[in-house]
Amino acid sequence: MFIKTYGCQMNVYDSERMAEALAGIGFAPVDAPDGADMVILNTCHIREKAAEKVYSELGRLRQLKQDKADAGGRMIVAVAGCVAQAEGEEIQRRAPMVDMVFGPQTYHRLPEMVARAERAAGVKLIDTDFPAEDKFDHLPSARGAKGVAAFLTVQEGCDKFCTFCVVPYTRGAEASRPVAAVLAEARALAAAGVREVTLLGQNVNAYHGDGPDGREWGLGRLARALAEIDGIARIRYTTSHPRDLDDDLIAAHRDVPELMPYLHLPVQSGSDRILDAMNRKHTADDYRRLVDRLRAARPDIALTSDFIVGFPGESDRDFADTLKLVGEIGYAGAFSFKYSPRPGTPAALSESQVPEAVKDERLAGLQQLLEAQQDAFNRATVGRALPVLIEKAGRKPGQLVGRSPYLQPVHLDGADLAADTPIGTLVECRIDELRRYSLFATPLAARQERRNVA
Ligand code: SAM
Ligand code: SF4
Repeated sequence: MFIKTYGCQMNVYDSERMAEALAGIGFAPVDAPDGADMVILNTCHIREKAAEKVYSELGRLRQLKQDKADAGGRMIVAVAGCVAQAEGEEIQRRAPMVDMVFGPQTYHRLPEMVARAERAAGVKLIDTDFPAEDKFDHLPSARGAKGVAAFLTVQEGCDKFCTFCVVPYTRGAEASRPVAAVLAEARALAAAGVREVTLLGQNVNAYHGDGPDGREWGLGRLARALAEIDGIARIRYTTSHPRDLDDDLIAAHRDVPELMPYLHLPVQSGSDRILDAMNRKHTADDYRRLVDRLRAARPDIALTSDFIVGFPGESDRDFADTLKLVGEIGYAGAFSFKYSPRPGTPAALSESQVPEAVKDERLAGLQQLLEAQQDAFNRATVGRALPVLIEKAGRKPGQLVGRSPYLQPVHLDGADLAADTPIGTLVECRIDELRRYSLFATPLAARQERRNVA
């Protein structure tokens, strides 16, 4: 089986779950689609031209499927994810060689769907329903974790209906997984060697899972409970909406050292007029105040964001407000996009679409500023003492690679170090140097140990 993943971390996570479900019925992963028994394109509908990319990939797969048939075999081709959800019928029409189309809510039915597709060659399956039952029930509870860092879905869907976004239509209504299920999965991950969990959800800080005490727990309370699990050293969560960052979550950033001081908090625009038209339900000043409160609670917190330029009706002045906000906040990194109309969303119907050339120019200006800020942030970590979570061996003998609290890759050199520093160890380091996007560091503890011996 070959699974190609497009888009967000949620899709990476979903692909892992699909691979697990298929492993249960005998499919083993392969590195390329050529000759595979099953190829799944796990698609994303957010980015521009996403659907077109899927169609061109399907064009390439058609030949591979034919080759396999000529050799007497059968390749099942499936399209999953948000493009499948949004364009199920259209995919079947434009790419009739596709055997299965299924949306993000139906992955637990995958083994059954494959069995049906295998039995009924030529019969097409479309499954893009939003089921009424609890979709989280079908996630395997104890899964084989492969590394030091793992994703953990706690929430799915979104009720915010930002006027540019397809997520509420493709992923359905907001739903939270019960606390007990999240904690059980986190314990299983920790037992398998995971030290860092990233809690996932389209609107993750809207989390409101049923707690063991009969009350609803927010994300702050969940983070406190996760931090108690033996082995869990780091907790992250993504993606947050500014409106749902409540007092308890801010307090958790102050009180829970395991909660990393690195937060993706998308603002999209710095103009109140545009924020209103986007239905973000907050102003630029609300966001500024929120950032002040976060920084008061956790002074070393670094922020990242998403931005959209060229939203319908965006004037030069609106765009200048975005640059102003970016200048004031100072980001450690950000994603920025040109507005791209998504069929079925209100903003796509607006008659005030911004010309492509203007979007291009604004995107270039914004990215220049954001890149300069990211570079300044990375440079400012040089000389600091930071904990590094060791994730793997580096390319050079004796080298180890880990991540800082800010997700920056950090390289540590020294053969003696690799021998007595297992993967998954947290090492206090001094950051010595920045080369391109990687930091190079010296472990402080190891230096101290050597000094003690001398
Ligand atoms: N839930 C998150 C939030 O509210 O910020 C974001 C989820 S969305 C999957 C990721 C990002 O894609 C958004 O923050 C936005 O910047 C971008 N995006 C979504 N729809 C877009 C569109 N129609 N055009 C351009 N960018 C878009
Ligand atoms: Fe989309 Fe995020 Fe807005 Fe929900 S909150 S509609 S996922 S952009």
